[in-house]
Amino acid sequence: MKVLVINAGSSSLKYQLIDMEDESVRAKGLCERIGIEGSRLTHKVPGKEDFVVEEPMPTHQTAIELVLRALIDPEHGVVKSVDEIDAIGHRVLHGGSTYTESTRVNEDVKKVIRECFDLGPLHNPANLMGIEACEKAMPGKPNVAVFDTAFGMSLKPFAYRYAIPEEYYTKYKIRRYGFHGTSHMYVSAETIKYLNLPEGHQRVIVCHLGNGSSISASIGGKAVDTSMGLTPLEGLVMGTRSGDIDPAVVQFICDHEHISVDEMLTILNKKSGVYALSGNLSSDFRDLAKASSEGNEKATLALDAFRHKVVKTIGGYLGVLNGADAIAFAGGIGENDAEMRADIMKQFTYAGIRIDPEANRVRGKRAVISTPDSTVKVIVLPTNEELAIARETVRLTQ
Ligand code: ADP
Repeated sequence: MKVLVINAGSSSLKYQLIDMEDESVRAKGLCERIGIEGSRLTHKVPGKEDFVVEEPMPTHQTAIELVLRALIDPEHGVVKSVDEIDAIGHRVLHGGSTYTESTRVNEDVKKVIRECFDLGPLHNPANLMGIEACEKAMPGKPNVAVFDTAFGMSLKPFAYRYAIPEEYYTKYKIRRYGFHGTSHMYVSAETIKYLNLPEGHQRVIVCHLGNGSSISASIGGKAVDTSMGLTPLEGLVMGTRSGDIDPAVVQFICDHEHISVDEMLTILNKKSGVYALSGNLSSDFRDLAKASSEGNEKATLALDAFRHKVVKTIGGYLGVLNGADAIAFAGGIGENDAEMRADIMKQFTYAGIRIDPEANRVRGKRAVISTPDSTVKVIVLPTNEELAIARETVRLTQ
């Protein structure tokens, strides 16, 4: 079975064609600048040179048509005809509280995605355009929506409700949803398999640390808590997002700087985080580590603040889960930054968690990085959201 995985953004569209016989990626690529002048498609097939198509893409529909053309191209393609694609899996940001798991797309599903435009204003409209473009370009093929918020739907009310008047929850569904759900679902399930954790011993903390970062606590692959909230702004200090702040800061700055709440939210999303703490040096942890090692105090502050918040969150989740059986690191930082992993876990030696410095040298691949006598197994487990979406698509279409 071959599954086309689509991740549509407002002006971009990422895709992968995965052969589910062996879960191999046959082709993948990216359409950029959809609806903007200078659109291009970069199509990658393992072992071949990149195939670049520079053609106008006024809509997501034309983007999908170009993707299908590339997939069947006699020279750069990987299938003879579109008929070889069995199903399409779509990443959808927000399913509100209606969808607690992935689902096959029908008119009702599209209606819910539309109703959640408010909650995911940048992503949901694009996700829906991706779905509708595939329905038109490949009529009759099953489409599956995999919601980033689904993983957070197993939270109990005491974990997902904000302590604000009830009417905002009942009227507007203001609650903690959590994001990176597909990644947390994949990494927590794979951690259980990889470590062979028996039932009753499946308390897992997943640290997805990348440009956007979040941490989840789960039992048996079901989320108990997660650090992102109504939007991905809550929780950890991130590349350019502030994470948790006192909401009164918003009012104070808006009043003093005479800016709107919208402008303030753009600042909190795009100009804050380690980028801001480092004095606008960079949001990339490699740049920050280099600057910090050269004595840049702001870069050091940014890295320290990031680590401090990660430690507080893991510590909180150790309490929430009454201990843990495994802690897994994923995301660009989690998978590659050995020093950060060691610095974070150093704070948990009190609980008998120990990192093996040799094992912790690993980058970008699965490995146990704790010592054999560590009370909790600590691992690196690279995330694979596309594969998770493809697996859900197979599950729901077979
Ligand atoms: P996104 O949230 O955009 O998917 P990623 O998970 O790809 O982000 O993570 C990207 C981030 O990972 C980069 O901004 C960089 O800070 C960090 N990163 C990548 N490689 C390394 C590395 N070798 N050492 C430290 N940080 C790294």
